[in-house]
Amino acid sequence: MKKHIVLLPGDGIGKEVISSAKDVLQAIAEEYNHSFNFETHEIGGAAIDQYGTPLPDSTVDACKQADAVLLGAVGGPKWDQNPSHLRPERGLLGIRKALDLYANLRPIKGFKNLLHASPLKEEVVAGSDLLIVRELTGGLYFGTPSERRDNGNSVVDTLTYTRKEIERIVDKGFQAAQQRSGRLTSVDKANVLESSKMWREVVEEKKAQYPDVVVDHVLVDAAAMKLITNPTQFDVIVTENLFGDILSDEASVLTGSIGMLPSASLREDGVGLYEPVHGSAPDIAGKGIANPCAMILSAAMMLRYSFDFNTEAKVIEDAVQSVLDAGYHTGDLQIEEGRQVGTAEMTKLIVDYI
Ligand code: ATP
Ligand code: MG
Repeated sequence: MKKHIVLLPGDGIGKEVISSAKDVLQAIAEEYNHSFNFETHEIGGAAIDQYGTPLPDSTVDACKQADAVLLGAVGGPKWDQNPSHLRPERGLLGIRKALDLYANLRPIKGFKNLLHASPLKEEVVAGSDLLIVRELTGGLYFGTPSERRDNGNSVVDTLTYTRKEIERIVDKGFQAAQQRSGRLTSVDKANVLESSKMWREVVEEKKAQYPDVVVDHVLVDAAAMKLITNPTQFDVIVTENLFGDILSDEASVLTGSIGMLPSASLREDGVGLYEPVHGSAPDIAGKGIANPCAMILSAAMMLRYSFDFNTEAKVIEDAVQSVLDAGYHTGDLQIEEGRQVGTAEMTKLIVDYI
């Protein structure tokens, strides 16, 4: 099937890992008879240098025409002194908003031979494999008013959600649970917050539409504790913006390396933007040693969530696991045994498996 994919390499190692993801997707296209058409555009610091803005209209227009967007990373010391409207991160927030991406998906998996790299006990993280579905465009981060009053002596942040906004993210949570093991945990603070009470109502109402999914409700404080004491009890977690932000950073310690974590940001019609959780890593940019796995696993998410190519997505994930199992790894992973390789070789090993 023909798919149009926009690549936004951005800055630093973003450029290096995007090219790895493209190689992997080309291998998938060959093996499974798909046709992927790639078009590259600038974002972040690279766009500031070339167009004088972190998010040129041409980039926004191209993304709006795409079936999916892959983004590397933005930022770097070169632009750190720029005024705020010329910060590379502006490009990232701008493109998420322009595409109305309201659902942020972060899978977190304890890869077998990386378990010791987590600060948590190996027996706790072993077998952990969960997905956090976070609402991205509402809640406290977008409250109006958000202001100082009383000569600067009091502050107001407001938390607003419409029923519709809750429904669409809860639907994404249920759908993700259907594609995985059929368990959904809804995280809220319904003993205190009105928004959480409505959240819980919506989840209860939606249950009937997804009879194959088992749902439970956990308060956010308890969820924070369980996430690091007993992470294997979770499969899919669905939650609002602020809770999701905090829980997904907390959950990232289960894996041991930021170089392994992919993410997706989705819109209602399935169009999505896929990017690694890590940044542009200026300290290692240009050295050919970046771990391409987070970006490659983001491409796998694109196949699953935007194109419904579930077999192909699984093949990429299996490829990454099997290359790690064989002992190959990039320098960011604290593995003593096995063989340390660079970005290009790691990519080639994954392509060869496919
Ligand atoms: P940002 O503000 O964009 O999130 P950051 O400085 O907080 O950037 P990263 O750019 O993710 O974070 O880098 C954090 C550390 O992790 C750096 O030392 C970097 O070299 C390392 N790192 C990040 N991603 C990778 C990767 N894919 N491969 C190897 N090392 C990485
Ligand atoms: Mg950071």
